[in-house]
Amino acid sequence: MRPRLSTLVSSLACLCLLPVVGQSAEPAAPLRQQVEVLQAGQMRVDKVKEGLYVVRGPFVPCTTRGCRPNGPDDGLIHEPGDVAIRATPEGLILIDDKYPENILEVLSQVRSVSSLPIRYLLNTHHHADHVSGNANLRALGIDIIGHRNIRENFLRIKQPGEPNIVFADEGALYLGGVEVRMLHYGNGHTNGDTIVYFPDLKTVHMGDLVIDGMPVIDYSAGGSAIAFVKTIDKLLELDFDTAIPGHGRVMTKAEVQAYRARFQEMNNRMRALAKKRFPREQLLSLDQARIQLKLADLGWENSVSTIAFMNSIGQYYDEMAAAP
Ligand SMILES: [Zn+2]
Repeated sequence: MRPRLSTLVSSLACLCLLPVVGQSAEPAAPLRQQVEVLQAGQMRVDKVKEGLYVVRGPFVPCTTRGCRPNGPDDGLIHEPGDVAIRATPEGLILIDDKYPENILEVLSQVRSVSSLPIRYLLNTHHHADHVSGNANLRALGIDIIGHRNIRENFLRIKQPGEPNIVFADEGALYLGGVEVRMLHYGNGHTNGDTIVYFPDLKTVHMGDLVIDGMPVIDYSAGGSAIAFVKTIDKLLELDFDTAIPGHGRVMTKAEVQAYRARFQEMNNRMRALAKKRFPREQLLSLDQARIQLKLADLGWENSVSTIAFMNSIGQYYDEMAAAP
């Protein structure tokens, strides 16, 4: 794995900012997110830690589902959700499975790291770019585990492949001496966001609670910007050093902390706009949203998820206007 610029920068910052008596030893995180600029390419598998892999890509232009006649083109390369593979002596645990058209390639990437069978599939949430391979895997006899709200969201929008095993807020799976925990800390991106925690590896898969881009709030599925930050706060209480996002490169815990800080800053800005009655309809324009929310400060002026974020900016305004 090549060294990440952000890791080098934070190492340098730690060398420069020695602790001073009476002050925090923690260097202030830079507000701007240094997102990875993706290049077009095939699906690939990367080793995260011993027994844990992430499947990235395919990396394609335009929207997350490729170029469409009427779809917005932000000029960026996109990828469906990050898939994780946890290998145990008794078989594999898969986390998410991308789009249905990706499933054969996902299975091929799985086979490239282990010949053991996939025993369970876990879902981080119900969105199509993460779990549309579910029906194919269920047809192979693989059990799918998800928060009960994930199953309800599948059924509500008539999406095939709903989880057949559910839990309420916290679940755990023990296979081959490996513990995998599933944690729902509240609403955020959706009402079913599940953090998959590998305590022995001090690693989490965060689903779309944290991505290498700006946060997206799915109000149609119980998403909430205010609850989102609180959920990330609870995630940060876990003992981990490595974090797989819903989309993009593997992150450090410091990067997740920085993500939380810039999300709170954006909430503060939106709340201030709503409280001074900045016209809601003007914010529906991407250009105005960029200016008024100062998205460039956050590194989110043209991230892979900025267009998706804009789909709910009116509801975001309404939520912050109603906030105390
Ligand atoms: Zn999502």
